[in-house]
Amino acid sequence: MFADVSFPISTYRVFTYSVPRNLEDRVKIGVRVSAPFGARKKVQGVVVDLRREKRFKGKTHPISAVVDETPIFDKALWDLLNWVSRHYLTPMGQVMRTAVPSRLTSSYSPPEQLMVRAVNGLGENLSALAESSPRQHRAMKFLKQRRDSIPVAALTSVIKNPWDACRALERKGYVTLARVPRIPDVSDLSFLPIQREIHFTPAQEKIMKGLEAWLEKKKFTPCLLHGVTGSGKTEIYIHLARRAELQGRRSLILLPEISLTPQIAGRFRSVFGDRVAIWHSRMTSAERAWTWKQICEDRYGVIVGARSAIFSPVRSVGLIVVDEEQESAFKQESPAPRYHARDVALMRGKLCGALTILAGATPSLESYYNQAVGKLSSIRLKTRYGGASYPQVDVVNMTEERGETGDYDSVLSRLLIEKIGERLKKGEQAILLQNRRGFSSILYCGDCGHVEMCRNCRISLTFHKAESVLKCHYCNFQKSLPRTCQECGGTELLLLGAGTQKVEEGLRERFPGLRLVRMDLDTTRRKGAYTRILTKFAEGDYDILLGTQMVAKGLHFENVTLVGIINADTGLYLPDFRAGERTFQLIYQVAGRSGRGEKPGEVVIQTSNPDNPAISCASRLDLERYYNICLSEREELTYPPFSWLAKIEFSGREREAVEREAIRFGGSMVNKPEHISALGPAPCPIERIKNNFRYQIIFKSPKKKDENGSKLHRFLENVFVNSSFSSRARGMGTYVDVDPASLL
Ligand code: ADP
Ligand code: ZN
Repeated sequence: MFADVSFPISTYRVFTYSVPRNLEDRVKIGVRVSAPFGARKKVQGVVVDLRREKRFKGKTHPISAVVDETPIFDKALWDLLNWVSRHYLTPMGQVMRTAVPSRLTSSYSPPEQLMVRAVNGLGENLSALAESSPRQHRAMKFLKQRRDSIPVAALTSVIKNPWDACRALERKGYVTLARVPRIPDVSDLSFLPIQREIHFTPAQEKIMKGLEAWLEKKKFTPCLLHGVTGSGKTEIYIHLARRAELQGRRSLILLPEISLTPQIAGRFRSVFGDRVAIWHSRMTSAERAWTWKQICEDRYGVIVGARSAIFSPVRSVGLIVVDEEQESAFKQESPAPRYHARDVALMRGKLCGALTILAGATPSLESYYNQAVGKLSSIRLKTRYGGASYPQVDVVNMTEERGETGDYDSVLSRLLIEKIGERLKKGEQAILLQNRRGFSSILYCGDCGHVEMCRNCRISLTFHKAESVLKCHYCNFQKSLPRTCQECGGTELLLLGAGTQKVEEGLRERFPGLRLVRMDLDTTRRKGAYTRILTKFAEGDYDILLGTQMVAKGLHFENVTLVGIINADTGLYLPDFRAGERTFQLIYQVAGRSGRGEKPGEVVIQTSNPDNPAISCASRLDLERYYNICLSEREELTYPPFSWLAKIEFSGREREAVEREAIRFGGSMVNKPEHISALGPAPCPIERIKNNFRYQIIFKSPKKKDENGSKLHRFLENVFVNSSFSSRARGMGTYVDVDPASLL
């Protein structure tokens, strides 16, 4: 027998191997195997086809080993991976590497550790030991104070080399030793388990009944649950997941970045206990391997996870939820496959006959549109649970403010300062958003206008005050703050563009003794830091939580009655057709953090563009209006959801070579169907990242009745896959991004 194997490399070719007799009954389509490849003895790949005769002319090598004891995919999941491979124009081997990282196998066994416990009823008398062996005596004294067994390794705090001592003690009958698997503790995410009795309100009840009926049908039902924050969506997911369990089916709950939404994970934990698996990017590899194996063994009813959880090898999926479906974190940017978990979720739902809920308070424009045209069933939850009212919003025009106060460097308006002061007096809390970390994002020369840029990227360097360095937020290049302009030698250097650190400094100057905590990438790098900050904030240890968009997501604090948006314009003018949508969503979401309890909330939005529709609509919390403005703009410019989009990016060290390659590619598209337009080749808006120059071509194919995206796909497949264009140019990367989330 012969097997075609796909490896995790960026070629669409598959390689033929012979299947040794003794492996014949275990080598199946969809199973991972290892085989000699190139110069390497054993490389993991996946079997994509099996046949009796050999079609390949050359010499074939035998497969060395089978990685998976049993196929890890059922048919639906295998079909899903094939769809991902086709849709995102990514070889199967690479899809597999994302869906099933190579360290995960269903036969994983965790490392073992040696546990020790004191034998019961030893009496108090250990004096014999005290004389013959003082080390063992010390260990015994320690062990006797503990009722349970402890890892032998834990005794290192008491004596050196406890293993020897424990073995000796075992021989003498003082202790028992046991080897147990060291199962990773995957529970540290359960942040403030919240248990409360739920009686659904009539509005919730009505929605629940409809959803339950869909779930009972066991058919693919895609819908958009558009519900304001705090309307009880999470309670609905929990309830539905329970119902799915009763049907013997499993639930996949996808959250944008789970380590950023520990409260929701915690709520699932408190209801499902050990039946819920948590899956996210910050797990250690042991935690991952262990969880994955347990998933294979069908130990969980619910998987709560970040985007890659959509590939969990659960067998019978009844419910899929994509919460905050508009989040760009659902899109994998690198490496390939550059998939969007929301779209993969819809496909998985289709293949499994699952109720598939896309949910959020600020849906993506695509889903909003799909619901309007009936592709997604529409479910609305218009009111917050408990009747908490909408916050009162004030907009401060910062251009006028600065004109009036004459303080052109200030980041805090008088109104915001006043409102913060009120909160401090009343013992209430505030959340402040400044969606940019560091101290200031630009070092500007007042004499010549030069802006200090990264050596490797076309990005200005951000000043970090605590370390007194300039840093690149793309490649982490650092340099110390120059005294004079690198260009003209001038000394008039200005720090412009406030980041979170500068806002923090301003607040501390204004309110001495302020209990403020800053939450951005710089303060949450260490594992658990994020949860720690939020726990302390929830417990009232801080008055103010200041941070980047991290503070906008899924948080629920009843004592927060003020939200301040320091600069609503950050990101508004990025050269990307989704910039306005993103800005609107962020403002709308963070505004929803205010007044979630009994006390009414307030929001202060600081902006220099109060008339920009994204900002004016967000300040009136008028989503429909903004989305309709946005939709007509997109329609006019044939952007999604009115077209299919794909981006081909070229990158490499030498600008000329990259440009040449992009132009050559442009010229090779002889059979481009007329209705597909190609923009470019042109330099990407961020022309250089990490020393790589970048060019792009964007393909747009208007959605018409007869175009479901397949024409664009076929065309791309021809130019990109079949000609294996990418392999020709040396030292150059060429990649395709289907349905790109960003054009930067
Ligand atoms: P969303 O997910 O839409 O933001 P949540 O499900 O988090 O909303 O609900 C907001 C808060 O209201 C949560 O603390 C939740 O437990 C509570 N809640 C929602 N509905 C009910 C209900 N019917 N009974 C009791 N508490 C509820
Ligand atoms: Zn850089």
